[in-house]
Amino acid sequence: MTEMRMDFKRKLPIPQETKEMYPLTPALAEAVEARTNEIRKVFSGESDKMVLIIGPCSADNEDSVMDSVSRLVPVQEKVADKLLIVPRVYTNKPRTTGAGYKGMVHQPDPEGQPDLFRGIIATRELHMRAVRETGFVCADEMLYPENYKYLDDLLGYNAVGARSVENQQHRLTASASGCPVGMKNPTSGDLTVMLNAIEAAQQEHDFIYRGWEGHSYGNPYAHAILRGYVNRQGVTHPNYHYETLLYLADLYSKRDVANPAVVVDCNHSNSGKDPFEQPRILKEVLHSCRYNAELKKLVKGFMVESYIEDGNQPVGGGVYGKSITDACLGWEKSERLILDAADML
Ligand code: PEP
Ligand code: MN
Repeated sequence: MTEMRMDFKRKLPIPQETKEMYPLTPALAEAVEARTNEIRKVFSGESDKMVLIIGPCSADNEDSVMDSVSRLVPVQEKVADKLLIVPRVYTNKPRTTGAGYKGMVHQPDPEGQPDLFRGIIATRELHMRAVRETGFVCADEMLYPENYKYLDDLLGYNAVGARSVENQQHRLTASASGCPVGMKNPTSGDLTVMLNAIEAAQQEHDFIYRGWEGHSYGNPYAHAILRGYVNRQGVTHPNYHYETLLYLADLYSKRDVANPAVVVDCNHSNSGKDPFEQPRILKEVLHSCRYNAELKKLVKGFMVESYIEDGNQPVGGGVYGKSITDACLGWEKSERLILDAADML
């Protein structure tokens, strides 16, 4: 037998049905569009603000995620003329070897069995709650391109991860995304792969999506995210330093892409997964931007992994607001980082 060795356990509701069950009100839809437009303006250069995509590595628990998103509201007011905060509400987690917690969409209860039906609904409810209760639109990772349609009316920012960025379906789906999409450099650090992904996402395409033959219009806000890399010996290397940013500017100048831009991911291989390095990294990049006007134009923001408690814990560790995936910066240090960043701008 060569047929797929797989149980098709149950038919899931399609995005349209899910949206009918959990609809956005017209007022909320308008709020999402207005806030997303602010983010677009940063990437097009119409706004001088920077975006700060900040929140836990994984949105593992609705209460503590909403708690951390809500804490950002008064801080956003204080820095409103300098920074546009986009909470990270990451409901899909790629895993290096495939083992471990795969995110809310798989396991709405991180300690429970996978439940994709409940997971789809839990992610939609969480993103909707964030918009309704805080006015923020949030960022998520487009890990499974087919799932994007369940959230496309809610997200203000989409990231294609380091392990997905060379994949055709991610690139083509990104070309249909209505909000800015960040393409991470691959874990190997090859910046050409990332730029190819940006170029692909900015073009129109015909492709199969969720059983449909579709046409996408291209995303002029597709841009780079530098997240550091791992070399052939498995050693992590940063790629946020001055010289790399200049090199990226040079690579961009040789390409025909709209809105050249980069977001610096301050954690992952840039910090060597030490979350406490994030404030230093962010400040170094802001210093590079002050020093060089070309970089000031290119660097449009930062990604920071932040939660209520410092560090991380195993699944089931039981500490409220502490990451069960990558280690994060706790709330006090995160608030300090935001205020310090605004002071430097
Ligand atoms: C993340 O943002 O948590 C993540 C998994 O990033 P990357 O794709 O850069 O490893
Ligand atoms: Mn992470």
